[in-house]
Amino acid sequence: MATTEQKRDYYEVLGADRSATRDQIKQAYRKLALQYHPDRNKAPDATAKFREIAEAYAVLSDDAKRREYDTGGHAGVSERWSTEDLVRDFQFGDFFGGRFDDLSSIFGDFLGRRMWPGQAQGVARGTDLRYDLDLTLDEAAQGDERLLQVTRSEKCQTCKGSGAKPGTKPTPCGDCKGTGQKQQVRSSKGMKLVTVLTCDHCRGRGLFIESPCLTCQANGYTFAPHSLKVQIPPGVDDGMVIRLAGQGESNANGGQPGDLLIRTHLRPHPLFQRQGDDLYTAVPISFAEAALGTKVSIPCLGGETVHVTVPAGTQSGTALRLHGKGMPRLGGKGKGNLLVIVEVRTPTDLTTRQRELLQEFAKLETRKK
Ligand SMILES: [Zn+2]
Ligand SMILES: [Zn+2]
Repeated sequence: MATTEQKRDYYEVLGADRSATRDQIKQAYRKLALQYHPDRNKAPDATAKFREIAEAYAVLSDDAKRREYDTGGHAGVSERWSTEDLVRDFQFGDFFGGRFDDLSSIFGDFLGRRMWPGQAQGVARGTDLRYDLDLTLDEAAQGDERLLQVTRSEKCQTCKGSGAKPGTKPTPCGDCKGTGQKQQVRSSKGMKLVTVLTCDHCRGRGLFIESPCLTCQANGYTFAPHSLKVQIPPGVDDGMVIRLAGQGESNANGGQPGDLLIRTHLRPHPLFQRQGDDLYTAVPISFAEAALGTKVSIPCLGGETVHVTVPAGTQSGTALRLHGKGMPRLGGKGKGNLLVIVEVRTPTDLTTRQRELLQEFAKLETRKK
């Protein structure tokens, strides 16, 4: 791709004055575009020249883009729009009244075919696939290698993706002359309006298949189950997406395959609640234990048990922090904490003796005040 320094001044390209009106810019462009259009001009540099002209016009014919260019130059424009952006929405066909219909071959290398929505199947990436992966909290903490069974399309082995019966070949579609699209030209208020439609004869592929491949019904691809290994990073959280590039639907027409997007779903854990990298768990103790202090055993993820001292006089709802006993942080940067929430239980079924003792205790409490 040309760097901004190598680009010529857009006004200079069009041979227009900096103060030129929109109409003057359009006039200048029209004259040059007709002169350099590769359908008419067979000079070897005509295509490059035409592209330069078209890009200059795409910027200078748009008020916002022209302002950006006037103040920031090429750098200002390229910061906000790629060359692709500049020319994508640009109605070349409209401008030429549909006279030249194969502009995609001129702009194809930097526009892709995005310029022509009807041909999107031609070079577009295959579809992304989504996979929902259920994980337990332990699995999310450990990380793991998982084998996923994914049904996705792959190039038909019988016809090698052409969609035509072996021994036959797809032929350029007669309806659209192999472009995969049709232009519908309408005139309204002296303007030519060109609508680009997908050719329904060849479904936009530009090729027509006389004898379809029986394996894939002329699609060029078949659906097949695949086993894919995926590495689950330790610490993965609910709703995260793991992207396996190129493992989505393949594209029979030669484009890049899509990606496989694996969304993780964490099953609720009976003991632990997760918040980011921290885990929360509750431990019930009696009010006597809370007052006198005690030791409790806390089960941690991965089967480990930790003994924790609950200090005398602990209030209900107090969180005891166990450093490094939470979830692993993504990217291997240590672990979060486990927060043990102390729940003081009030006894409900006192024996006679317990009741006596508590009444005694209550009297002492009152006297203290
Ligand atoms: Zn086939
Ligand atoms: Zn067609």
